[in-house]
Amino acid sequence: MALLEVNGLDVQFPMRQQPLQALRGVAFHLERGERLGIVGESGAGKSVLAFSLLNLLSRPGFINAGSIRFEGQELVGLSERRLRRLRGRRLAMIFQDPMMTLNPLLTIGQQMVETLHAHRRLTRREARALAIGRLGHVQIAEPELRLRQYPHELSGGMRQRVVIAIALLLDPDIIIADEPTTALDVTTQANLIALLRQLCDKHNVGLILISHDLGVINQLTQRTLVMYAGSIVEQGPTRVLINDAQHPYTQGLVNALPQLTPPRQRLRQIPGPLPDPLDSPVGCAFHPRCPYRFHDDGTPREDCLARAPRLESAGEGRVACHWVRELHEIPTFEETST
Ligand code: SF4
Repeated sequence: MALLEVNGLDVQFPMRQQPLQALRGVAFHLERGERLGIVGESGAGKSVLAFSLLNLLSRPGFINAGSIRFEGQELVGLSERRLRRLRGRRLAMIFQDPMMTLNPLLTIGQQMVETLHAHRRLTRREARALAIGRLGHVQIAEPELRLRQYPHELSGGMRQRVVIAIALLLDPDIIIADEPTTALDVTTQANLIALLRQLCDKHNVGLILISHDLGVINQLTQRTLVMYAGSIVEQGPTRVLINDAQHPYTQGLVNALPQLTPPRQRLRQIPGPLPDPLDSPVGCAFHPRCPYRFHDDGTPREDCLARAPRLESAGEGRVACHWVRELHEIPTFEETST
């Protein structure tokens, strides 16, 4: 049994004229100790997915279908009291902005001890010792001093390390990290990626890493889901996905990686915007941006306009594209779009 199993997850935000379908039939699993990436452009549904896993969706969003099982236990419909016990203790979350976790009015020590007391019976001395140990794990120098400091007295990178230390306080099984390195400079980002990887391996913690940056996903994860317009369009081992992307959208993301762009050349961005979630195109949601929506003679591929493709096995992963087998025989996204 997988540690986390998500099936047919639909999330809606009721709007005045019509509901906004933010997630459509999302399904995936996470094994114990596995590092899974979720990648896509802003607005693809990655963060909605992360928040729905912990039932932290902002209102009026709600899960209108599907199942989220953690160690076989259904989380959809679980009472807020039981969910609160799972959050932090078994499932921890790291946000892009550390100040979403840290209280500016309390010292780091007060916050760490408070978190421990909320979930465990420990004396103040034991809680303090545990907090110092966790700050050491995330390589924060002078941990006793940091416990006495307020968040604003720390650098951005150090604040994010403190957040990771808080996430690790209760020995969670899964850490969900939503763009945890996006606001940091390149060096701090690289250090934090190495740290997260090392900590997950050492403590056998599963990681769900949400990022718009395929480069970060590549450095940190073993398997990746690619999201577009609220659906998974490709999933597979990260190394295979980067080296041999099958879905035209994934190919576009890979081609936009700075590492693959020759020096002094502009990044090769995917043309066009994400579809309006209130006015999604009929058929394949990616078709208005897809360079393969026409046959070689210029006539449209009818399937692309008529039916939403389903995720199907392709190579070592799964891909949602009607033409994936044929497309893999023809030139790549970049060759056809320039
Ligand atoms: Fe492109 Fe058609 Fe495949 Fe969608 S189904 S990704 S439009 S080729």
